[in-house]
Amino acid sequence: MRVLALLDGTLLDPDAPHVRVDDLGITRGDGVFETVLVVDGVPRELDAHLDRFARSAAMLDLPEPDRAAWERVVRVVVDEWPAAGEMALKLVCTRGPEFGDGTPTAYALGMAISEAQLRVRGTGVTAITLERGFDPAVVAAAPWLLLGAKTLSYAVNMAAFRHARARGADEVIFTATDGTVLEGPTASVVVVDGTTLRTTPPSSGVLPGTTQGALFRAAERAGWATKVEPIPAADLRTADGVFLASSVRKLTRVRELDGSPLPDRPGLAEELVALYESEYA
Ligand code: PLP
Repeated sequence: MRVLALLDGTLLDPDAPHVRVDDLGITRGDGVFETVLVVDGVPRELDAHLDRFARSAAMLDLPEPDRAAWERVVRVVVDEWPAAGEMALKLVCTRGPEFGDGTPTAYALGMAISEAQLRVRGTGVTAITLERGFDPAVVAAAPWLLLGAKTLSYAVNMAAFRHARARGADEVIFTATDGTVLEGPTASVVVVDGTTLRTTPPSSGVLPGTTQGALFRAAERAGWATKVEPIPAADLRTADGVFLASSVRKLTRVRELDGSPLPDRPGLAEELVALYESEYA
């Protein structure tokens, strides 16, 4: 099930072709996107997603997204969605056709969430660590690397997934050359010790996660401590729990890392999911 609308709100057949073959989003991955979770007609963390969309666009020198227009098209797709329950809503903006008039290609696409994606929320995942090949110090020094922008260039992230699957794992946790934890190919990493949550700072070249942000907000309200700081990869082994956080997967426990089981504090996963959901109760 899918619902497609152009930024101006025009609904289109998602099975028909609409993007030009010379679109720079296709030929160069030159564009930005967001994936928003919609639950029972309510988009979660839409402001944070649109903030990040604007930041990513600015990093690519794309025109500033028209926030009111994006808010409107989100509503168009949500209202058109025929079912209750969950939808993944992708917002896409490319630099537009190479031989065009410079107008970006911009659309919103609502999609059903697959059974497989829903299943891992409960079962947890196995993961391997893979080096992402940069030092966090390069992030500020080399802005053209676009570290921390949510661009359409996800080929490396998808290759990492395939590499993990070839080695029998579900997921990847990227590490930096200085031995610290970065993020997953499509998720933030959250490390739990006692009642302290930690995640990697955007200054290390990761995306500021909207799901992680919501979890940290809820946790702080409930009296937990939160830290956004570099995390040595060795801490993943000794923590009470390691989680992947993203809009579609919500919070998924990493139960095995690089072939060895990780500690599993009983009830922790349920507690974190309850905290996260309390943001939307
Ligand atoms: N990091 C990367 C590289 C991602 O692609 C994503 C989401 O797709 C995230 C983190 C998590 O972000 P969010 O919680 O906003 O979905």
